[in-house]
Amino acid sequence: MGDEAGRKINLLGLTLSELEEFFVDLGEAPFRARQVMKWIHQMGVYDFAGMSNIAKQLRARLSEVAEIRLPQVVYEHTAADGTRKWVFELSDGARVETVLIPDGDRRTLCVSSQVGCALDCKFCSTGKQGFQRDLRASEIIAQLAVASRSDPMGAPRAVSNVVMMGMGEPLLNYEQVLPALRIMLDDWGYGLSKRRVTVSTSGVVPMIDRLGEDIDVALAVSLHASNDALRDELVPVNRKYPMAELAAACRRYLARHQSLEVGRRRITIEYVMLAGVNDQPQHARELLAYLEQVPSKVNLIPFNPFPHAPYARSSRTAILAFQKILLDAGLTCTIRTTRGDDIDAACGQLVGQVEDRTRRSERWARQVARTQDIIHRSSS
Ligand code: SF4
Repeated sequence: MGDEAGRKINLLGLTLSELEEFFVDLGEAPFRARQVMKWIHQMGVYDFAGMSNIAKQLRARLSEVAEIRLPQVVYEHTAADGTRKWVFELSDGARVETVLIPDGDRRTLCVSSQVGCALDCKFCSTGKQGFQRDLRASEIIAQLAVASRSDPMGAPRAVSNVVMMGMGEPLLNYEQVLPALRIMLDDWGYGLSKRRVTVSTSGVVPMIDRLGEDIDVALAVSLHASNDALRDELVPVNRKYPMAELAAACRRYLARHQSLEVGRRRITIEYVMLAGVNDQPQHARELLAYLEQVPSKVNLIPFNPFPHAPYARSSRTAILAFQKILLDAGLTCTIRTTRGDDIDAACGQLVGQVEDRTRRSERWARQVARTQDIIHRSSS
C-alpha cells in the first residue's frame, strides 16, 4: 500500500478500498476514506491541517503516519495553441512528462505510466531513452492532480479526458496503473466517466484480457502498421503478440463490456504516418482488411519529428489519400491535429532532450537504420 519502506504512507495513490483499509487499521471508521479522498482529489488540499471536517486529533495522527506527496514540477509551459506541458522530477531524480491538450470543450490529459519504455518502437522518442522504472500509482495520479488544478482556459474542470498514452506501456505497469484508473473513475476521486478514460497499449495481449476482467475503460491500440512484417520492425512487441492475436484480444475486450452498453463500442486504432514507410494506398487497403475483424475507429497521427529521428512526417496529400480510402469504406477516420509543436508535445520528446540516461541514442540510431534498410528491401 505504501510507497517506500520506512517513509510515511503517501495517500495520493490509494484507491477508496485501500484508504478504507488504512483508516480501519488506524481504528477509525471507513467513511473517513471518502472525506479524505474528496479533500485530496476534488479540493486539492494536501495538508491534513486544512481538512476541516476531520477531528483535530485524527489530523495530528494522520500527519504522523501519512502524507500527500506530489513530485516536483521542474518545467511547465503553455504553447501558443493552449497545449500545456509539465515535466515532473520524482523522488529519485527520474523525470516524466504530461501533456494537456485543449480542443473545444475537451481537455485531454496524456499521462505517463513509466519512466522511459522497454518496448523500443522505432519512431518513438521515449523508446529511444530505454526503460528506467515503473511509476507508482501516486506518481501517475500526481500528473492528473497537478493538471486538474491548472485550469488554463478558465474552465471549471481543467481535465475532461485522460489517455494513458504518455511515456511507457501502461499494461506493463499494470499493478500501479489499475489503482490509478480506479481513482480516476471513483466519484470520490476525479469522477471521470469510463468512456473518458482510455488505456493505450502497443498490444500486450494477455494484459488486455486482464484489463477487461478488472475494469471498464476505453481501449486504444497503437497499431502503426498494416501487416506483421512491417509491425515486427516498427513495434517490436508484435513479434511476441502478432496482429491476429491482437485483433482477437480486442474482440474479447469489446465483447466483455458490450452487453452492458447502449450503442456500439469501438477500439481506437492509433496509426502514426511515416513518409514512405506505412502511408501508401496499399497500406490503407491492408489496414482496412485487418480492421474488418475489429470494430474500430482510426486516428491518423502525423509523425512529430524529434532530434535524430529517422523518419519524416507523411505529406498532407498522402495522409488525406490514406484517410479517404478508410472513409470511403465506411470507417470513422480522423487526423490528429498537430499540437504544441513549440514545446515538443509528442510523447517523450522533452525529457528525451534533457537527458538520455541509458545512452542508447547511438545504438538506437543504428537499429533504426537497419530497420529502414529492411523495409526498403521488402518494398522494392
Ligand atoms: S510508442 Fe509507447 S510502447 Fe512504443 S516505445 Fe514509445 S512509449 Fe513505449
